[in-house]
Amino acid sequence: IEFKNVSLKYSPELPFVLQNMNLSIKAGEKIGICGRTGAGKSTIMTALYRLSEPDSGEMSIDGVDIKNIGLFQLRSHLAIIPQDPVLFRGTIRSNLDPFGETEDNILQKAIDLSCGSENNAKFALDMFVEDGGANFSLGERQVIALCRALIRKTKVLILDEATSSVDYETDARIQNTISKGF
Ligand code: ATP
Ligand code: MG
Repeated sequence: IEFKNVSLKYSPELPFVLQNMNLSIKAGEKIGICGRTGAGKSTIMTALYRLSEPDSGEMSIDGVDIKNIGLFQLRSHLAIIPQDPVLFRGTIRSNLDPFGETEDNILQKAIDLSCGSENNAKFALDMFVEDGGANFSLGERQVIALCRALIRKTKVLILDEATSSVDYETDARIQNTISKGF
């Protein structure tokens, strides 16, 4: 993944959040990004997903400029455990596998890996999910985002403070799952 002189502002009257940012990540590398609150860490993810388009500069993956490919193609090759994951109205199943491409036993395996066995009722595949995931806590939504990422098996995985809102035990389990599952 390469960033070349990427600059981004959220709207014309606002200051730059990213300014001439350069970044080079080789295949298989694990990179940590540190910065104070509001420094622009989550914005880097926003740029890579093309949720906000940079004002200038270039971002490429495997030498392909990401603005020259379709959003579906780009985003289907990235997985993210966001700082504040959103769930959609439906069931756990429809949230993990919106296009119905994955068999239940594979979905269940990802749930068991991420949630352990004690929370199975809450994370049952047919469990109802309200708009935005309102009936799940932030930590629970992060766990579901981890399940999604496990199922999708993408080469690029972004963790934006993926365990900021879970307890110590869940944090340890998520870290363990990440190091085994990816
Ligand atoms: P934190 O550690 O608190 O998660 P961060 O490094 O992830 O912080 P960002 O969320 O990338 O920080 O925000 C960087 C700056 O961009 C902040 O000043 C923030 O107010 C601004 N910003 C973020 N999202 C938007 C948006 N959608 N519209 C306008 N400004 C935004
Ligand atoms: Mg952030």
